Amino acid sequence: MNIILLGPPGAGKGTQSAGLVERHGMRQLSTGDMLRAAVKAGTPVGLKAKAVMERGELVSDEIVSALIDDELASMGPETGAIFDGYPRTAAQADALDAILAKNGRALDHVIELEVNEDALVERITGRFSCGNCGALYHDTANPPSEPGKCDACGSSDFRRRPDDNEETVRTRMAEYRAKTAPILPGYEARGIVSRVDGMGAIDAVANAIDGILAS
Ligand code: AMP
Repeated sequence: MNIILLGPPGAGKGTQSAGLVERHGMRQLSTGDMLRAAVKAGTPVGLKAKAVMERGELVSDEIVSALIDDELASMGPETGAIFDGYPRTAAQADALDAILAKNGRALDHVIELEVNEDALVERITGRFSCGNCGALYHDTANPPSEPGKCDACGSSDFRRRPDDNEETVRTRMAEYRAKTAPILPGYEARGIVSRVDGMGAIDAVANAIDGILAS
């Protein structure tokens, strides 16, 4: 199974990917996570990407497609792939088709998480994660059950992304509208697009996604 989770920043792609990994043993391929790891490690890719990410603009197609190419090559054919935050441009969508074909894979579903854009800024500026295990939280929608302590690992080392501020979020949304939304019609023509109401509770969205995967 190879699926793309599509939706603007804050739509819940990362949260839903984590659920799919847990429920179905799929692998999440998040170019955002890969780039953040590269920035943290100070690799040449990280050095190139850092300022672009801080502005909320898109990193070059070549860089992100190479990251996906490498990651997919390291996966056994039986492991399903969730593309999270990739592709984001028409050139990346074309690159993904070529990378999948090279690995004997094909896209099964493109799932668009539909969200009310007014809610996104609040969703994004309230989110944080565990710096130790990566568990995702939100100030109001999904706080840890014990304040200041990660439910999953007990750590109190929480992090906020530097690009999760209102100004950068507005740029990221504009990038989504201008460059990412236009790739949907191509997938629609292939009959593989499904839409899910991304404003629902995390479990309700997960159930809707599982229904699509089972169809
Ligand atoms: P995300 O974690 O998916 O919200 O991505 C965070 C940032 O990383 C984005 O705002 C971009 O600067 C960069 N990025 C992540 N994925 C891509 C991609 N597929 N193409 C270009 N830039 C990306």
